[in-house]
Amino acid sequence: AKAAGKNRVQEYTSALAADRDRRTRLITDLRRALAAEELTVHYQPVVELTTGRITAVEALVRWVPPGQPPISPVEFIPVAEESGLIGPLGAWVLRRALRDARMWHQRYGMSVGVNVSARQLREPGIAQLILDELAAQRLPGAALVVEITESVLVVNDGPEAAAVLAVLDRLREHGVRIAVDDFGTGYSSLAYLRTLPVDVLKIDRAFVQGSARGGDPAAFLRAIVQLGRSLGLRTVAEAVETPAQASRLLQMHCTLAQGYFFSRPIAADELGTLLAKTGG
Ligand code: C2E
Ligand code: CA
Ligand code: CA
Ligand code: CA
Repeated sequence: AKAAGKNRVQEYTSALAADRDRRTRLITDLRRALAAEELTVHYQPVVELTTGRITAVEALVRWVPPGQPPISPVEFIPVAEESGLIGPLGAWVLRRALRDARMWHQRYGMSVGVNVSARQLREPGIAQLILDELAAQRLPGAALVVEITESVLVVNDGPEAAAVLAVLDRLREHGVRIAVDDFGTGYSSLAYLRTLPVDVLKIDRAFVQGSARGGDPAAFLRAIVQLGRSLGLRTVAEAVETPAQASRLLQMHCTLAQGYFFSRPIAADELGTLLAKTGG
C-alpha cells in the first residue's frame, strides 16, 4: 500500500509538471499565433424564433495552429487571462468582429456580440478602447453587445467592482448593450442582476438542454425567461440543439436563440452568404 501511495504521488507531481509545461508552451504559442494573425473569428447566428430571422451574431475566437488540430478557447482563454495576453487578444477579436460586422449592421441592422473576460474588463482604458474601435468602423454603440459573466463582479463592492460598473455604465451611455453570459450558473445570479447594468440574459445551456441537476429543468427555464421579461430584459437561449428545445422555448415566450440546431459558428464569408440568402 505504501509503494502504491508513493507511486500515486509521483504520478500526481509529474502530471502537475506536464500540465505546467503545456501551459507554458501554450502561452508562447499563443503569443506567436496572435502576432502571426493565426487566429480567426467565427460567428454564430442568434435567431428570432418566431420568424427565423438572424438578428445578431456572437463572435467566437478560433485557433488552428498550422498542421495541428484546433485548440479550443475553453483551453486557451483561461491561459490568456492568467498570462495577461487576454488584453491584446481581446482587442484583436473586437477589432476583427467590428470590421466584419460593419456591413451586416448597415445592411441588416444586425449587432455583434463579443465576449469580454473579467480581467479584460478591469484593464484601464477598456471603455475608451471599445468606443474607439466602434468609432473607427463608424458604427453606433447599438451595433455591439458586450458579453460578460457574473464573475466580473466577484470582488463585490470593492473599488475594482466600482470601476467595472463605471465601464459598463459608460458603454451603455453610448448605446452598447451588456449581456450576462451563462446566466443561472453563478453563485448569486439574482444579487448580481440588481447590481449589474444589464440588457440581455443569455440562458446557460444547462437550462436550455434540461441537463441541470435537481428540480424540474423546464421550471427553471420558465422562471429565468419570466424573470428576464419582468425586468424588461431580452433573453437569449444558448446551445439549442433540437427542434423540441426550440418549440419549448417558443411556448415559454423566449424569442431569441442560438445553437447548433440553427447554425454552428461559421466563418465571416459563410455568414455573408447565409445572410444574402435569407435577407438577414
Ligand atoms: P460562450 O461565450 O458561452 O460561447 C458559447 C459556446 O457554446 C461556444 O463554444 C459555441 O461554439 C458553443 N455552442 C454554440 N451552440 C452550441 C450547441 O448547440 N451545443 C453545444 N454543445 N455548444 C454550442 P466555443 O466557441 O468553444 O467557446 C467556448 C467559450 O470560450 C465561450 O463560451 C467563451 O466563454 C470563450 N470564448 C470564445 N471566444 C472568446 C473571445 O473572443 N473572448 C473571450 N474572452 N472568450 C471567448
Ligand atoms: Ca458568450
Ligand atoms: Ca454562454
Ligand atoms: Ca462560457
